[in-house]
Amino acid sequence: MRPKVTVEPVARLIDEFAKLPGIGPKTASRLAYFILRSPREEATALAHAILEVKERVSLCSVCFNITDVDPCLICQDEQRDRRTICVVEDPLDVLALERTGEYHGLYHVLHGAISPVDGIGPDRLRIRELVARVQAERPDEVILAMNPNIEGDATAMYIARQLLPLGVTVTRPASGLPVGGDLEYADEVTLGRALAGRRVL
Ligand SMILES: [Zn+2]
Repeated sequence: MRPKVTVEPVARLIDEFAKLPGIGPKTASRLAYFILRSPREEATALAHAILEVKERVSLCSVCFNITDVDPCLICQDEQRDRRTICVVEDPLDVLALERTGEYHGLYHVLHGAISPVDGIGPDRLRIRELVARVQAERPDEVILAMNPNIEGDATAMYIARQLLPLGVTVTRPASGLPVGGDLEYADEVTLGRALAGRRVL
């Protein structure tokens, strides 16, 4: 419940912060009062950064990673190994894999995993685009680096069934990643090792 005496703009800011993941009402209030006390330029910079991320960042038309140029810098990079495509659930997974320094191929971002409980079927993900891309680009290998949990495994199996008839080698990173965890939280060494020890499906 809001306190009785509310200053409407402050209350609204608190409400907006409270919508963010991991932010409870207390933290939301703390953030709102921090903004209230900070210099006008800093508040303006924050507001602009939020708007810019919505206006200038879009999805790469090839790999569907977030980007401000299309195709994205990874897809454009001629130095990368274009015979390998690593499929991940989220843009954050791309960052995690890039941090390992072990992977030099291309990516394909699904934007989620199949989850019947949450009403997310294959059509909600970029799977059709992946199949079309594999048919067109004919890579040697597709790595299915979904999160090591039920949804990730189900998604990997679904995609493998679509790709294997195309004659491409389909692999999955080795176990050793924290089970049930998110790729993005795995440390670089563990992730790099899982990638190096991938097995053929
Ligand atoms: Zn791209």
